[in-house]
Amino acid sequence: MACNKEHRYDLRFENLPFDQGGAGRHRCVGCAFEKGYNDGFARNEQLSMDLDALEESQAGPGRHKSPHAAYALGYLKGVEDSYQ
Ligand SMILES: [Zn+2]
Repeated sequence: MACNKEHRYDLRFENLPFDQGGAGRHRCVGCAFEKGYNDGFARNEQLSMDLDALEESQAGPGRHKSPHAAYALGYLKGVEDSYQ
């Protein structure tokens, strides 16, 4: 299943490290970011990225970027926003 959401073009993903040949190479970093954000906002302590559950993506600045880094970025943003 390929992701068609606008978050594929989010410029925040431009500076994420590349996932060269890793398991997450073709996963959507936008979806990873949203999952991390939701876990962070809820301040979940038992975290699971579950890479296989993320949609795939071949487009935008997030192409071939690390979903692990995107998840972590989303988690931090979610925690920050939960204190607003
Ligand atoms: Zn996505």
